[in-house]
Amino acid sequence: MGKVIGIDLGTTNSCVSVVENDKPVIIPASSGSMTTPSIVAFTKKGERLVGESARRQAVTNPERTISSIKRQMGTDWVCRIDGKDYRPQTISAMILMQLKKDAEEFIGETVNDAVITVPAYFNDVQRQATKDAGRIAGLNVLRIINEPTSAALAYGLNHGEPQKVMVYDLGGGTFDVSVIEIGEGVIEVLATAGDNHLGGDDFDARVTDWLVDQIRNQYHCDVRRDFAAMQRVRDAAEQAKKELSASQSTEIVLPYLTMEKGEPVHVDLTLTRAQFEKMINDLIERTADPVRNALNDAHIQPSQLGRVLLVGGSTRIPAVQEKVRLLTGKEPSKNINPDECVAQGAAIMGSTLQGKGLIAAGTGQELLLLDVTPLSLSIETVGGVATRLVGRNTTLPTRYSRIFSTAAPFQRNVEINVLQGERPMARDNKSIGKFKLKGIKPAPAGVPQIEVTFDIDANGILKVSAKDLDMGKEQSITITANDRMSEDEIQQAIHDAQNYAAQDQVRLDAAELLNESQRLLNQTEQTVRSMGKQLDKQRKKQIKADSSTLQKMVSKCRLDKVTEAEVAEIRAAKQKLEESTAGIV
Ligand code: AMP
Repeated sequence: MGKVIGIDLGTTNSCVSVVENDKPVIIPASSGSMTTPSIVAFTKKGERLVGESARRQAVTNPERTISSIKRQMGTDWVCRIDGKDYRPQTISAMILMQLKKDAEEFIGETVNDAVITVPAYFNDVQRQATKDAGRIAGLNVLRIINEPTSAALAYGLNHGEPQKVMVYDLGGGTFDVSVIEIGEGVIEVLATAGDNHLGGDDFDARVTDWLVDQIRNQYHCDVRRDFAAMQRVRDAAEQAKKELSASQSTEIVLPYLTMEKGEPVHVDLTLTRAQFEKMINDLIERTADPVRNALNDAHIQPSQLGRVLLVGGSTRIPAVQEKVRLLTGKEPSKNINPDECVAQGAAIMGSTLQGKGLIAAGTGQELLLLDVTPLSLSIETVGGVATRLVGRNTTLPTRYSRIFSTAAPFQRNVEINVLQGERPMARDNKSIGKFKLKGIKPAPAGVPQIEVTFDIDANGILKVSAKDLDMGKEQSITITANDRMSEDEIQQAIHDAQNYAAQDQVRLDAAELLNESQRLLNQTEQTVRSMGKQLDKQRKKQIKADSSTLQKMVSKCRLDKVTEAEVAEIRAAKQKLEESTAGIV
């Protein structure tokens, strides 16, 4: 078995790590950065860009650039580009393929296995979509683990002392808080809470709104009308936010931002930390309830916490750190890199699953990981009530059965509506799947006995089965949530990804060949000119003919449509010119 990589598939940035010499190391992206922007773009030439290169061109190609796809995981979001539909799983798979490629270059061997992290609040459908994305990318996903749990693993590696720890994870798009117990070789998640739609993106939006208002008031123009200018404003907003984590004020300079009445608009504004803190105060306040809930669910007081860990790039904001201090009465630990520790923990998990048994420092035992269900699971029963089968924060893997019956006399079918959420009424929870149990023996209401079993595996993936005890036969039913990709769709996406890999290679070869050919043509032209009459007439004629053939092919070739046959033809023409110019070029 090769190495297992740990992937933090983030809303804004993703990060990949591998254990080397018993230590998780971060794999740099091809850009040299330790994280890869979770951005995919399709250029007008038909090229697909992932990461930093996609981010850089977002300004000029906003309609064909996809970011924060993690927010859409598990939904029926579809994006149509050049007549092809892309689902969140497919877009995420493109990011995963890039991380896989970076890892393979770094490690020097093929990578097949991965552990991928998800926010603790991700429901079954979102987890399954993440697993599917891994499969589409050609990865064997050994385990899906919660991000805070993963961070705790990285933490557990560095510090072995038994204690209860809070992980406060505020990233680009999600907020998770977990209370974790680190024991002798065991890390147990006691409780999790959070908000799927809260993070640095929201802070950026506030600064962006402020900038738009300032530009309207001071420069008298509506920058929202200019798509490309808006992308620059958004980038500047994020940059300003980051700078304010280290300084008290920042200058936002945007020369030639847009045109107003035929004149260029040069923007120069100052934003202070105090102004910024005021703008985002209510957003930071929104982290308070989940923190309290997690502590209540874990049945502990803040004073019983050993440490509070900060995870996610947004925890670099001083006001966020201050809020954590206020809520917990503790000085949060910052000795763990907030952008990298989640991927590191996943790499540790991967290494542990591989049987390498990374040892928790000082304990001499393998790390054992106990994860929990982030939300309660129920089924809808008479009167639209959500009847709970598995409570929130139940340790995984788990299996739970309960006997149900019919509501009407001689009822032959029952519809089982599987729900996720904490609300007592079915309609207030999220329906994650429905199925019908058919062919029940006709009997008065309440007589048939139907055993419903919820089975949640170590990845948090749920399977529901039903057994008609009266008929004595078992029916196994799989949830077919609309949001999930069908097996056919997954196979199609895997197939597409593989096809794309081959097509990418052809384009890459063609691009290199076109460059080399153009270089040869330029050199040939120069040589022919400088040699003048020294060059034999017959040979000159041959060189000119070969140059002209190659030049025509190079000019005609379009990278988005290039075929293997065309590449072979160009290669042959190039070789012909190399032969006729041998010894002089
Ligand atoms: P993550 O999802 O953990 O990669 O966090 C990404 C988020 O952290 C983005 O919204 C970034 O803008 C934000 N971020 C990164 N560095 C800083 C910083 N120095 N100050 C404030 N926010 C930051």
